[in-house]
Amino acid sequence: MAEREGAGRVDIVGAGPGAADLLTVRARDLLAAAEVVVHDRLVSDAVLAFAPGARRIDVGKTPDGPSWRQADIDALLVSLARAGARVVRLKSGDPGVYGRLDEEMDALDAAGVPFEICPGVTAALAAAASARVSLTRRGRNSSLRVLTGRDVDGFAEHDWRALAAPGATAAIYMGVGAADFLRTRLLRAGADPSTPVTAVDNASRPNERTAAAVLGELPDALRRAGVSGPSILLLGLSPRDAAPRAAEPSAPTLAALRAAGDFL
Ligand code: SAH
Repeated sequence: MAEREGAGRVDIVGAGPGAADLLTVRARDLLAAAEVVVHDRLVSDAVLAFAPGARRIDVGKTPDGPSWRQADIDALLVSLARAGARVVRLKSGDPGVYGRLDEEMDALDAAGVPFEICPGVTAALAAAASARVSLTRRGRNSSLRVLTGRDVDGFAEHDWRALAAPGATAAIYMGVGAADFLRTRLLRAGADPSTPVTAVDNASRPNERTAAAVLGELPDALRRAGVSGPSILLLGLSPRDAAPRAAEPSAPTLAALRAAGDFL
């Protein structure tokens, strides 16, 4: 690592959902130029391979192993930059979606360390693509909610009435462990138990899996399907391959063709 006191910087980079070719070109270039990469557990080896020359520091939180405190990660970033290093802080998906981005930006600002943010493909978008569903649709949902199943206080509370409304669509992060809570809250708020829920496990990775369920059968349906996480739950959406196909568009009538001036 080059020692250029005061010349360091930090790029907070979205690593995307896992597939190396879902990384942005900017992220790839920043990784190639990095001297140190400070990354989370969910960042795939395929993405880390874009920084072959960099020192790697894994600050990920393992389910049972030792985990880094956020304050220690903040201090690490500041001290590396102060030592003059070109640092990439690599976070899965997009750094601004359940990524504790504010804490790190605040620490860098307080220390006077320059930083930039490089967005990434967040897991919800990769999950929708895997399940081949549209997250919005005219006449069904004109808004999309992004939720977490958990927050610092445990299971996260939301506007359950809005979420229980017909057609409501939400991408739920960290939702598998909260599935029973989600079901209870939504049914109590009047949701239809047959509301579709699609779980996408390991979206964009070689072990990606999609499971179709209905709200009333959570969490058992997820358990039966072997959903292990990391997973996104898409509330209100069925995987395209499970849904009955829309009928083929019918052949245009002669009158319609005449009206369109196509022939005759
Ligand atoms: N910043 C990340 C989210 C971090 S929170 C992003 O923008 O995607 C971690 C949660 O993200 C996981 O519990 C899971 O709900 C979701 N997640 C991350 N990667 C995923 C993947 N490849 N497939 C499905 N869900 C994923």
